[in-house]
Amino acid sequence: MDSNTYSAQAPTGRGGPPDVPPLHLAELAAVVDKLAAQGLDGLSAAVRAERLLAWRQLLDRQEGLWLQELTAIDARGAAGADQDQPAPSTAGWLRNRLRMGAGAARSAVRTARALFRGSLPGTAAALVAGEVSVAHARAVADGTQEVPDHVKLEAEPALLEAAGRLDPHQLRRLVGHLCQVVDPDGADRQAVHRHERRGLWLAPTFEGMVAIDGLLDPEAGQIVQAALEPLARPADADDDRSAGQRNADALTELCRRSLEGGWLPKAGGVRPQLLVTVGLDSLLGRPGGVGGDLGWAGPLAPEGCRRQACDGAVTRVVVTRQLDRQGDLGHRPGDEEAGATRDLVGEAGLTGRLRAAMTLLPPNLGGAPTQPLEVGRATRVVTPAQRAALAVRDRGCVFPGCERPLAWCDAHHLEHWVDGGPTDLPNLALLCRAHHRAVHEGGWRLIRGPDGRFSATPPHRRHRRAA
Ligand SMILES: [Zn+2]
Ligand SMILES: [Zn+2]
Repeated sequence: MDSNTYSAQAPTGRGGPPDVPPLHLAELAAVVDKLAAQGLDGLSAAVRAERLLAWRQLLDRQEGLWLQELTAIDARGAAGADQDQPAPSTAGWLRNRLRMGAGAARSAVRTARALFRGSLPGTAAALVAGEVSVAHARAVADGTQEVPDHVKLEAEPALLEAAGRLDPHQLRRLVGHLCQVVDPDGADRQAVHRHERRGLWLAPTFEGMVAIDGLLDPEAGQIVQAALEPLARPADADDDRSAGQRNADALTELCRRSLEGGWLPKAGGVRPQLLVTVGLDSLLGRPGGVGGDLGWAGPLAPEGCRRQACDGAVTRVVVTRQLDRQGDLGHRPGDEEAGATRDLVGEAGLTGRLRAAMTLLPPNLGGAPTQPLEVGRATRVVTPAQRAALAVRDRGCVFPGCERPLAWCDAHHLEHWVDGGPTDLPNLALLCRAHHRAVHEGGWRLIRGPDGRFSATPPHRRHRRAA
């Protein structure tokens, strides 16, 4: 179906007179043209403000009339008559012809039916008269969907009275309460219906981001909101993250703490954790490193791998590509897999360099001299005892000016252990997730002075370490 032959804008004059629909819309289009062409600079602020408010009311009235007409078309099965092709549904027709979103189209039809063919005559009249907004009328219509008609008629005056003093969101809540009073059974049915619509969908995107889309019932929504709220607060006055970014960080933090706290059921005998598989080149920050692999969610940039390796559990898996092909690779049963470092070495000539790099690993990662082919045990880079000592010394993030407490913090190596830095207190510092990222990915450099105070130098493009 060609959806471009008619558009909502056609009657404004751009589409030309032949397309202007009949019966007063041409006059309305002419008025809108005048509005568009009007110069308002000469008007006083008060007049312009009054004008804006009155205009909004007219828009709401118009939308009310539009919904009324939509009801008529829906009732007559006239959707699609414009092209002489009866449409299977009124909402589908709106989507096709006006390119409305699926949700918006369904909602328009539902609201129209409830107002103009249901038992809310007072609300419909108030909308057309400009006494309530479309959002208010929709709150009443949606909120009383499950209420029997005779109850709806009786309750309507009280709802309209409330619509005069509440905003649509508040009105929606009030309607919910009143429905519970006038029709407890209906309210219960509606709650069950809402609960069944719940869902949460996660999908990796082409950009390497993960998209989250979901719908929660009111109780679950409140629980999630309550859990995110304390984690989503701005860190300080300089926190310039948007509300959306803070919510995203809070959700991640919540999940991270659940994983670290060990409250979650084990999957296959292993506690679910972030598992990053990364080549040694990437871990060493050598040029050409392909980054780590997060599995389902895709790749993790080399510097992100280094950040994760700062304070994780590491399993060293040394392989040659040849062995990989023979399938003689993998984790021995019984090995913990809290985190894994897999060193993939392409050419045999790199084995020497690989050995040299391995000797740089601290002893708590399984000893310096290693066989080139082996699966090591999972080892926590920073031991619980060291973490406790750090907690006492640093208390929270040491980044100058940051006051995030211990629970937000990773242990960071001032000189990374993969570069030969020791995992001991003088080389460790607590950094909150944001500042840990700022130091690794953001290029800030954190230095501990002889007096024990930390200073941070701003980013400059630091050279990748050449191996
Ligand atoms: Zn770090
Ligand atoms: Zn911090």
